[in-house]
Amino acid sequence: MRKIALILAIILLIFSVVALASTEGEKTIYLTFDDGPTHNTPQILSILKKYNAKATFFVLEERITQYPEYMKMIIAEGHSIGLHGVSHNVNTIYSTPSTPLNEMNSANETLYKCLGFKTKLIRTPYGSYPYMSLEQYKILKAANYNLWDWTVDPRDGVGTPDISAILSRIKTDLKGNERPVLLLHDRKTTANNLDAVLSFLASRNYTFDTITETMDPINFMELYGPAKNKSS
Ligand SMILES: [Zn+2]
Repeated sequence: MRKIALILAIILLIFSVVALASTEGEKTIYLTFDDGPTHNTPQILSILKKYNAKATFFVLEERITQYPEYMKMIIAEGHSIGLHGVSHNVNTIYSTPSTPLNEMNSANETLYKCLGFKTKLIRTPYGSYPYMSLEQYKILKAANYNLWDWTVDPRDGVGTPDISAILSRIKTDLKGNERPVLLLHDRKTTANNLDAVLSFLASRNYTFDTITETMDPINFMELYGPAKNKSS
């Protein structure tokens, strides 16, 4: 009996080591693309497909109606949709306690009319910090929206950054980052640099998954609280 128990224990140990080795080093990063869809979306989608990468697109209301075919492509290829609002203007969307909610509700209605579904996933323009008040955040939460900011920012939306600057910022933000959410934009320069970005991340054993409605959102309001001048 003792021999059998020993053999079983050894088999169990071997299985555990094999299982551990096969998952070792695998990490998930959440790619997100703001401001689309645009005429660059097909290029972005084809590069994502090359790396078997899934991503989340935070879309603007006007562009849902402008590019419904690209919306359908995003969904058909297994990516996730979130809302980025209507105005994309700091002075408009953050102007009253209910304007962020109103913009998301409006974009959600348009999403429903065009694609037949709604989403709880949102990202407000320029991130919730320092623009969003605690009251605005509470109103969005009460309406069951999941607010997502990011934890990796290569600043791809500013000017025409070259790939070495983008990769250098990504490397810095990934250090010690337990839940990497990468901020990218649906724009030409990002589309042109995306292959190199995904190649770098894949070489670091990252796999790419979508943000879903059941995930606990990462946002600056939860991480840092509201900005002082807007804490009322
Ligand atoms: Zn944006």
